[in-house]
Amino acid sequence: MSDHAFATRAIHAGQAPDPTTGSIIPPIHQASTHVQDGIGGFRQGFEYNRGGNPTRSSLEEQLAALEGGSHALSFASGLAAEDAVLRGILSPGDHVVIGNDVYGGTYRLLTKVHAKWGVESTTVEMSDADALRAALKPSTRIIWVETPSNPLLKVVDIAAIAEIARAAGVVLVVDNTFASPVQQQPLTLGADLVVHSTTKYLGGHSDVLGGAVVFGGDRFYDDVQFQQFAVGAVSAPMDAWLTTRGIKTLAVRVRQHAENAQAVAEWAAGRPEFERVYYPGLASHPGHEIAARQMSGFGGMLSLALVGGSPAARAFTESTELFRLAESLGGVESLISYPSEMTHASVRGTALEVPDDVVRLSVGIEDAADLIADLEQALDRLG
Ligand code: PLP
Repeated sequence: MSDHAFATRAIHAGQAPDPTTGSIIPPIHQASTHVQDGIGGFRQGFEYNRGGNPTRSSLEEQLAALEGGSHALSFASGLAAEDAVLRGILSPGDHVVIGNDVYGGTYRLLTKVHAKWGVESTTVEMSDADALRAALKPSTRIIWVETPSNPLLKVVDIAAIAEIARAAGVVLVVDNTFASPVQQQPLTLGADLVVHSTTKYLGGHSDVLGGAVVFGGDRFYDDVQFQQFAVGAVSAPMDAWLTTRGIKTLAVRVRQHAENAQAVAEWAAGRPEFERVYYPGLASHPGHEIAARQMSGFGGMLSLALVGGSPAARAFTESTELFRLAESLGGVESLISYPSEMTHASVRGTALEVPDDVVRLSVGIEDAADLIADLEQALDRLG
C-alpha cells in the first residue's frame, strides 16, 4: 500500500474484502472474545477485545498507512490516545514542553491529571526556537506540538522542531487533528509520534468519538500498546468501523472543507466587523509560508476576532443558522463555537487563555455561498 497515493491508501489499506464471503466491506466484528483452538491457540492473535479486535485492527492498519507510519493504535477518544502516550512514555519527575495554543483538554490532561503523578510541564511559544530551547530541561522527555493549533491556528515548523527535539534527545509528538493526514504528515517531517482526535476529520460525520496514535517505527509502540491493553480505553468495534468508513472519503472531504474555509476567510478579511482573521491560507497569516511548505492545503478551521469584543463575539456565535452552535469540528456540517467559554473554558487564567473576542468556525462542506450568506445575516443581526 505504501507505494500508492493517499486517496488510494485511504480506501484500500486495512480494508480487504472479507475472505469467507467476498463482502466488499470488512465486517464489524461485534464480539468481546474469540474462541481458542486449545489453550493459547489464538486465531490470528485475537484473544479478548481489550487486547485486540479485527475491526480495530483494520482501522489501525488504515491509520498507519495514512500517516506513513509503521503502526497505529485506536482509542475511545482523542484524549484517551493522548493519555496512553503520556503514561507509556513518562515517569514521575519527567517534564513536557507544550505549545501555548493547544486544545484545552490536552493542557487539562497534563496539568490536572498527570501533574498529580509528578509530571511537570512548561508552555512556550512554539514558533520561537530560542524560547523552546530555553524551556528544555534535563528531565524533558516530550515536546508536544499542535499545528495548526486550536483555536488560534498558529503554525509551527515541524521539521525545525524535530531537529531541536532530536538534538536534545526528546520525543516529538504532533497532534495532527486540525490538518488531518491528507494535508500534513508529521512523521515524514521528523516527528516521532502523531496523535489524532479521530472524532474530527477522520470520522468526518460527527457520529463517532475516537482517537489514534501513529508510530514512525517500533520505538514506544509496545509501551503505548501496553497502556491501551492494561487500561482499556479502546475503540468499540462499531466506532472503529464508522471511522474506517469516514476515512475513505477523507481526501475529497478535506479538499472541500479547505476550499470553503479559504472562501470564508477571504470574505471575512474584507469585512470591517472583524478585527482579525486567523486562517493559515491567507497570505497575511504569520505562519502562511510554513503552512504552504509543510501542508498540502490549509484546512477547514478558522477563527475570527470581532471588533466589538466579547459582546459582539457572543452575539455573532448565537446568530448563525447553518453554522450550528456546538463543540467539536471536522464534520461535514459547519459549526461555530466560542472557545473561551466552551472548548477552552478549562484553561482560563493560564498561558493558554483564549481572547474573549474570538469565535471559531469549523467550515463544513455545504455550498460556500450559503455559508457566507449565513455569516452575513449573523453580522446584520448585530446591527
Ligand atoms: N486534539 C485536538 C486538537 C482537539 O481539538 C481535540 C478535541 O476537540 C482533542 C485532541 C481531544 O479529542 P477527543 O475529544 O476525541 O477526546
